[in-house]
Amino acid sequence: MTDCLFCRIAAGEIPTDFVYEDDDVVAFRDINPQASVHILVVPRRHVPDLTAAAEDSDLIGRVVSAVAKVAADQGVDRSGYRSVVNTGPDAQQSVQHLHVHVIGGRQMDWPPG
Ligand code: 5GP
Ligand code: ZN
Repeated sequence: MTDCLFCRIAAGEIPTDFVYEDDDVVAFRDINPQASVHILVVPRRHVPDLTAAAEDSDLIGRVVSAVAKVAADQGVDRSGYRSVVNTGPDAQQSVQHLHVHVIGGRQMDWPPG
C-alpha cells in the first residue's frame, strides 16, 4: 500500500479508465482537463520527477513512446499537441510521481503562464 496517488491508479487500486497501458506505462484522462484532449502518461514504477527519471533512459524512452502513441490514438499527432512535465514548486508540480501531460485539440498560446 502506498499513499502515492499515481502509484495507486497505476496499480488499479483506484478505478480508472486507461486510454493506453503496457507493462511499464499507463495513460488516463486528467481529472481537470485543460483542453478536449488532456491525458496523463505515467510510468508504473514510482519516480518522483523528471530529474530523478533522468537516471533511467530506458524508462524515459518508454514514456516518450507512450506519449506518441497516445497522441496518435487521440487524433492530435498531425494537428499538434503539447507535452508538459512540471518539475518542482516553481512549475507547480502537484503530484510527486512523474507524469507527462499530453494536451491537444485546440490552438494554444506561448509563453505558458
Ligand atoms: P501536475 O500539477 O503535478 O503537473 O499535474 C497533476 C495533474 O493530475 C493535474 O492536472 C490534476 O488535474 C491531475 N489529477 C490530480 N488528481 C487526479 C486524479 O485523482 N485523477 C486524475 N485522473 N487526475 C488527477
Ligand atoms: Zn508513485
